[in-house]
Amino acid sequence: MHKSYKIPLIFVSILFCIYATNPPVTIAIQPFSDFDSALLPVIKKGVEDFYRDLNISVIILPETNLPLSAWYPPRNRYRAEKILKYLKTLQNGSFTKIIGLTSKDISTTKDSIYDWGIFGLGELGGPTCVVSTFRLKQNSISKAVFLRRLLEIINHELGHTFGLDHCSHSGCIMEDAKGTIKTVDNSSGKLCNSCRKWLMTIFSIQ
Ligand SMILES: [Zn+2]
Ligand SMILES: [Zn+2]
Repeated sequence: MHKSYKIPLIFVSILFCIYATNPPVTIAIQPFSDFDSALLPVIKKGVEDFYRDLNISVIILPETNLPLSAWYPPRNRYRAEKILKYLKTLQNGSFTKIIGLTSKDISTTKDSIYDWGIFGLGELGGPTCVVSTFRLKQNSISKAVFLRRLLEIINHELGHTFGLDHCSHSGCIMEDAKGTIKTVDNSSGKLCNSCRKWLMTIFSIQ
C-alpha cells in the first residue's frame, strides 16, 4: 500500500525541481497593424534560435493598433515608453515577455534630447519591449541585411527584458548602437561570453 504512493511522489518532486530551476518562459510577439505580417514566421524562428538555451516558447498574438496615447504630433511619430506602457496592459501576467513590432518611427528621451528616434526600446528586467523597422532600411540594403538588422534589434531588446544591460565588448549584440546603423551591421549577432554567462545566471534564479 505504502509503496504504491512512492513513485508518484518522486515523479511530482522531479517535476517540481525542473519547474523551480527552469520555469517556462513565453515570449509573445505583438505585431501592430502597420507591421508586415509576412515577416512574423522568420522573426519567431530567429527568437527561438537565439534564446534556445532558455527553454522558451514563442507565440504570435493577433495584430492590434498602435495606442493613440503614444502618438507624438510634433515629430509625427510614437513615444516608445508609452507603447511599453500599453504592452504591459496586454501582457497582464499572461506571458513572460511581450515584444511589440511596428514599421512606424518611434522615439524616447535620451540624455538632454527629449525626442530621440530609436530602433527599439526594452525594459531592463521588465516584461516589455518594442522594435521599429523604420530606421532599418537605410542605405538601400537587401532583404537579407534588413532581416539580419531586424533580428539583431529584436534579440537585443529582449536581452534587456532578461536583465542584460549594454555591453562594452565590441561586436556583442548587447552593444549600445547609439542610433547608428553601422554598429548594428558590425555586430556579431551573438552575445559575448560574459553576457551569455550573465543571462544564464539571471535565468536560473528567475
Ligand atoms: Zn539597448
Ligand atoms: Zn556582451
